[in-house]
Amino acid sequence: MPLIVQKFGGTSVGSIDRIRSAAARALATQRAGNDVVVIVSAMAGETNRLLALAGEISPLPDAREVDSLASTGEQVSAALMALAIQAQGGKARSLLGHQLKILTDSAFSKARIKAIDAQRLHDTLGQGTIAVVAGFQGVDDAGNITTLGRGGSDTSAVAVAAAVGAACEIYTDVDGVYTTDPNICPTAKKIERISYEEMLELASLGAKVLQIRSVEVAMKYGVPVHVRSSFSDAPGTWVIGEEQSLEKVTVTGVALDRNEARVMLVGVADRPGIVAQTFGALARENISVDMIIQSPSVHAIQPGSDEGSIRTTDVTFTVTKADLPRAQHIMESLTAAVGAREVRYDEDIVKVSIVGLGMRSHAGVAARMFELLAAERINIEAISTSEIKISCLLATKYAELAVRALHDGFGLGANT
Ligand code: ASP
Ligand code: MG
Repeated sequence: MPLIVQKFGGTSVGSIDRIRSAAARALATQRAGNDVVVIVSAMAGETNRLLALAGEISPLPDAREVDSLASTGEQVSAALMALAIQAQGGKARSLLGHQLKILTDSAFSKARIKAIDAQRLHDTLGQGTIAVVAGFQGVDDAGNITTLGRGGSDTSAVAVAAAVGAACEIYTDVDGVYTTDPNICPTAKKIERISYEEMLELASLGAKVLQIRSVEVAMKYGVPVHVRSSFSDAPGTWVIGEEQSLEKVTVTGVALDRNEARVMLVGVADRPGIVAQTFGALARENISVDMIIQSPSVHAIQPGSDEGSIRTTDVTFTVTKADLPRAQHIMESLTAAVGAREVRYDEDIVKVSIVGLGMRSHAGVAARMFELLAAERINIEAISTSEIKISCLLATKYAELAVRALHDGFGLGANT
């Protein structure tokens, strides 16, 4: 019998009424001739409530106990969902992380799944029963309860689907992934099919819909994921392998990332090893760097200066705003060593990216992007590219204007 994994997010199990309608959907799917595994999140707001309780006791609560606490939200929804299915005449059994044996590493609050006992699931389903699995949680080798990071029940669902070779439906409160944020650009429209690769590059758009790690797991195991609304029967967005995404459109979506900050090392000595030293220090502190630009120093080319003898360079890079204070600290201890004249920091920037598989085979996409920004008199502060993505760093005040210009300029708008 075909097997379908259905995951219901926090709003889709946010009340008894909603649990009832999710249960009805699972039963209808079973009656249509499928085996069904349901994965549930905690009821909307519950995980936040639980974490706040721990926070009231201690500003830095013990990680093991926090996971033990946070995992209870999903235990409640799993039991309620099983009861709701039973109340509608079906058979259901709830399974917690340790009961199903979702084996993870021991990194509390961000554990990674190592293995899932698929046999346990098959045994449950074999009796015509719907298996209701608590998302977000697992168990480590020592038997400790672990959790997978915020939004982690998406990853539970995709991992379970991978373990049993099923497709995965993610029921949520939006009806899919959009070409850009509809709050910024009213012409944004729902994407019917998107590849794993594009979804990962559009993280800032997609992360609101799916935990990004779940996309990595789906890509690794080739699990087709259908993100759709639990409030309607309309098809949502399929996240699938590149081979299955029919036409390779040039630009699939426009993403806006407000989380980056810029660091500029001005007038650094231009000799081997300086860049290695700078980024080595950041890497040792686990700070990831996104864009990097090195250019002749603004100081070296000032009139009257002797360029030949000064030989300095400017190194500009971006880190997340969250990492900026630590990066700042490292730069201060490094300025003397690398001979920087000054270090500038700028949080008033955003990164706007266009993403699309078709870029690989189309020339001129970057040029078109720059033209569209130039037509709005938007200055580009830095550029970075990958095979399927082009990003520009801009002043924050241009964020919305840039997104709209690129979205409609590349013909993604609903009426274009
Ligand atoms: N309940 C967890 C959270 O809020 C996991 C999830 O909903 O996916 O992060
Ligand atoms: Mg979620």
